Amino acid sequence: MDATQLIINFVIIIILMTLICLVADVFLALAVYNDAKAKANNEPILWAILVGIFGLIPGIIYLCIRNSEFNKRIFCPHCGFAHPISLKNCPQCGIYNNYSEPFDNYLTAEYKKKAKVFLIISLILIGVCFIFAIIMVCLFFLTVASYSDISYYSYYPHY
Ligand SMILES: [Zn+2]
Repeated sequence: MDATQLIINFVIIIILMTLICLVADVFLALAVYNDAKAKANNEPILWAILVGIFGLIPGIIYLCIRNSEFNKRIFCPHCGFAHPISLKNCPQCGIYNNYSEPFDNYLTAEYKKKAKVFLIISLILIGVCFIFAIIMVCLFFLTVASYSDISYYSYYPHY
């Protein structure tokens, strides 16, 4: 393998890695959008864009706030017990909680399912990216090793 071929190989791997990472980001954004929808978040598109573009930091912030709407407390109109708004029934008296409807219906179940699928796809792609990175590091050290061999032999020719 000559030097140009090697550089071309590296460039191809880097481009592939970048593309896979971009696709992983898109799937991650889709996962966040669907999760936010499932959790009755007010800004699903904003969170999807933030996590899709900036990744880790908004991702961590999102993980911290994703249940905030979900866990908002209300007082049971029947017994006065304070409980999360998303609970279908009051944990104290068991009366049906009308306000839980936006948090638990067939649409949110659908969003939840989609969020999970998109997250798994995104994680698999990130895993593939890591494998590519490892291959690249190995390739790099192998070529460095082979080049140092060549220079050694050209420097001290055999007779
Ligand atoms: Zn109650």
